[in-house]
Amino acid sequence: MENMTQRALTTKIGRRSFLKMAAVAGAFGATSAFASGNVTRAATEEEVKNPFPGSKKVKTICTACSVGCGIIAEVQNGVWVRQEVAQDHPISLGGHCCKGADMIDMVRSEVRLKYPMVKEKGQWKRISWDEATDRITKKLEDLRVKSGPDAVQFLGSAKMSTEQAYYFRKFAAMFGTNNTDHQARI
Ligand code: SF4
Repeated sequence: MENMTQRALTTKIGRRSFLKMAAVAGAFGATSAFASGNVTRAATEEEVKNPFPGSKKVKTICTACSVGCGIIAEVQNGVWVRQEVAQDHPISLGGHCCKGADMIDMVRSEVRLKYPMVKEKGQWKRISWDEATDRITKKLEDLRVKSGPDAVQFLGSAKMSTEQAYYFRKFAAMFGTNNTDHQARI
C-alpha cells in the first residue's frame, strides 16, 4: 500500500517515472551495501593503539570567541584529524561550549571560506587579498564622501581579543565615527 509521501510523489511526477526512480534507488541501495561490505576490515594493532599513526598532539585554543578555551589538536601530516578538551587549560579547566567541542569541523568543513570571493554576474570568483582590501577601502571611501562617516557602523566580533577590540575601536574613530559595537557573548 502506498504511504502518503509516495501518493504525493506519484501525483506530482507520474506513476511510471516514480516506479523507475524507485527501481534505481533500490539498485543503488543494494550496490552501496555490497560496496561497504568490501571495504570494511579489521583494524590493525597499530590502528587500535592510534588510528592516526605518527600524529602529534598540539595545544591550541578555540577561536570561536575571545574566552580562548583550551583544545588539544591531533595533527597527522599537517592535517588536523582529531580533537580533545585540554583538561589542564587554566581558563576553561577542561570545559567547552558546543562551538568549541566541534571546532575541528569548522576547519575541515567543505564549505569553509578560504580566500576572498566576489560575486560577478551571478558567479562566485576568487580574488586576491589585495583586491579584496582595495575594493572594501574604495566602498568605505565612497560612503564617507557621499554620506559622511556616520553612515557606517563598525561591528566587532566575539572572536576579538581585548587588544584587537582596542585597535578596531581606534580604526572606527580614525574613520570619523563613534558607531561601533561589539558582539560579545559572555
Ligand atoms: S566559550 Fe565556547 S566558543 Fe568561546 S572559546 Fe570556549 S569553547 Fe570556544
